Amino acid sequence: MTANEDIARNASRTNRFPKRRVLVVDDDPTFALLATETLEQAGFRVEVAATAQQATAAFVAFAPDLVLLDVDIPGGSGFDVCRVIRTADANADVPVVMVTGLDDTGSIDRAYDAGATDFLRKPVLWPTLPHSVDFMLRALDDRRALSRSQRKNRALLESLPDAIITISAEALVTEHLSGADDPGEDHALVGRRVEDVFPPEVARAARQFLAGEHGGRSSHEYAVGQGAERRWFEARLRPQADGSLLAITRDVTERRKSKARIEYLAYYDQLTGLPNRQLFAREGGKLLKATAASGQLAALLYLDLDRFKRVNDNLGHAAGDELLKNVAARLSRQFRTRPGVEGVRRVARLGGDEFVVLAAGLDDEKQAAEVAETVRASLTEPFDCAGHKLVVTPSIGIAIYPRDSADVDDLLVKADMAMYLAKDQGRNGHAFFGQSMAIRSLSRLELESDMRRALEHGDFRVHYQPKVDLGSGAFVGVEALLRWTDAERGAVAPDKFIPVAEETGLIVPLGEWVIGEVCGQLRRWSEMGLGHLVAAVNVSVQQFTRRDFAGRVLDALQRAGVEPTRLELEITESLLMRNVDDTTACMKRFREAGVTLSIDDFGTGYSSLGYLRQFPVDSLKIDRSFVKDMHTSDDDAAICAAIIAMARELKLKVIAEGVANADQLKFLRKHRCDQVQGYLISKPIPVDDLEMLLRGGVPGASEYDHTAHHAVLLDPKP
Ligand code: C2E
Ligand code: CA
Ligand code: CA
Repeated sequence: MTANEDIARNASRTNRFPKRRVLVVDDDPTFALLATETLEQAGFRVEVAATAQQATAAFVAFAPDLVLLDVDIPGGSGFDVCRVIRTADANADVPVVMVTGLDDTGSIDRAYDAGATDFLRKPVLWPTLPHSVDFMLRALDDRRALSRSQRKNRALLESLPDAIITISAEALVTEHLSGADDPGEDHALVGRRVEDVFPPEVARAARQFLAGEHGGRSSHEYAVGQGAERRWFEARLRPQADGSLLAITRDVTERRKSKARIEYLAYYDQLTGLPNRQLFAREGGKLLKATAASGQLAALLYLDLDRFKRVNDNLGHAAGDELLKNVAARLSRQFRTRPGVEGVRRVARLGGDEFVVLAAGLDDEKQAAEVAETVRASLTEPFDCAGHKLVVTPSIGIAIYPRDSADVDDLLVKADMAMYLAKDQGRNGHAFFGQSMAIRSLSRLELESDMRRALEHGDFRVHYQPKVDLGSGAFVGVEALLRWTDAERGAVAPDKFIPVAEETGLIVPLGEWVIGEVCGQLRRWSEMGLGHLVAAVNVSVQQFTRRDFAGRVLDALQRAGVEPTRLELEITESLLMRNVDDTTACMKRFREAGVTLSIDDFGTGYSSLGYLRQFPVDSLKIDRSFVKDMHTSDDDAAICAAIIAMARELKLKVIAEGVANADQLKFLRKHRCDQVQGYLISKPIPVDDLEMLLRGGVPGASEYDHTAHHAVLLDPKP
């Protein structure tokens, strides 16, 4: 066969109405002639082969669509020819019709064994021959079309992730094609009952569909396996017209996993793993509904960490993040580890340093305050962050459900407002959203303008709290503390107005005023014969980091004619963590002039004692929160003892502030603290009272008998 013939043949095959080729194999010329005549008449192309050899050759050259094969031919039997055709040609489906005069079942069996398609008996009824041939060719076409489409379907199915299971009306699996994602073998499930293939829920639904009840759910998700092996499947049930049911199952484990991941991203805070605002609102809403049903109260606590910005600014964001994680862990642990409380508490992070706690199942407001107090207390223990010990205090605003609102979002807003009130009230505490809220938050704005006016009118005062040397028992100095009594508000606590002054920058002129005032006072004391007193002034970071702060302070001293050694500046640890070069330069100037520097509230910040070595600092003031519990808490006692010991090693003076009872004093004396200051000796008092106290008298304005306390100090040393 030439290439051209080959092309022509292929072309004719693809023709929609091809001239079909029939190969007639018979050594009987009459039969061959008649067959050829009838078939050609009907539009077939016919070729004749008379021997077995011719037949096999013609099969290849002529490429018939159908073969009429006589059983008895020279050169071998028709059966052999059939067998050869079947093995030699890839097109094994070409119909081979055996034609024979024999009428025994034996040759029929042999014909089929040899691969014959059909069977034609001689004498052939000639007029029907074309119809028979045509019928067989059509059947072949159908078969070919079917297998083509089956192949296509098969390929399609194999590329689909789905497994397809056909379930008979009797609820048995009749067909099972495994999907691409499901390496199980095809038909593995054939013959099983739905109950053995699917979980009960799906099997039940399948039974319902088979029973013609179409109300059930047609899509189900179910798990197979346990633990890490566990996989999820989705089964869709589709009733078929013939009463059977198609179950299309798919492995949806990955889909579920990514859905869970997306949910996690959408509903949880990435840093701390706590629920975020969305989830909190959703879950909180549910909890409130339950609370409404029980007739109880719920409290929404809005927490903001005091001065968190300082951590971020001074130690960097990594440390800030670390701290937030630790706070989150402590908050959630607190509720998880308390039996009975777990179910009615929700914790979330709203962003930044803001956290919320929803506490349901409360009987009254007092319990809300108790929850706030436990939350606050849980944070007081210092956090270990990036090698620093950080002390965190929260300001907590509380809104009550249903009194303040029935809606989570609204409660959030109100608790947030109350949180500002808590900050106003000096931080590290809680405040309720209340009727007076609107007025109070207004007053925060007014506070600033009132403070400006008070500064202009000279309404600020300075009170003095004496410091006593533990070795000699003598008064060695005082701490100057700002006091402000507003005509309408009454006495406003420094913890309330100093933060506002710092935020607004008013602290700079205010602080300068204090320094001027104190310098004037030192001058008067010299004139009164109290020239040994050293006065300590609190200095805000804002003041200290202003250009020429040192110059202005030294000027004020000079104007008043006061020795610089009589002024001490109390600065906070956070100052040291800032612009180190500028700060040290300023500190050096003070030191050269003789002004002393002390670190205030030591222990609450994060500077290590070793770090202090770099700075020209003279003394440390142990924060009063440690002093407060030093005689009852082993931890606080250890901290105080360590601070005192290390300060001595660094040749720094140590002052304990907030000393309020004799036990504390005893402890401090035992550990050889240098100086003490606190209510045990005296509260901060006006200058007249102080002078009286120093002279050994009883100050009129104070309700305390300071001389008695003085006597305590003068006790012989242990
Ligand atoms: P501080 O520098 O830690 O001042 C010590 C505070 O502890 C004072 O509170 C004092 O009254 C209080 N205190 C002293 N002994 C005891 C005691 O035994 N028990 C108790 N519970 N408290 C005691 P105050 O006067 O309310 O001042 C609060 C804060 O306001 C000060 O804390 C200081 O940070 C700031 N402050 C006060 N005056 C000034 C100022 O002129 N400038 C600046 N920048 N800050 C100031
Ligand atoms: Ca101070
Ligand atoms: Ca202090």
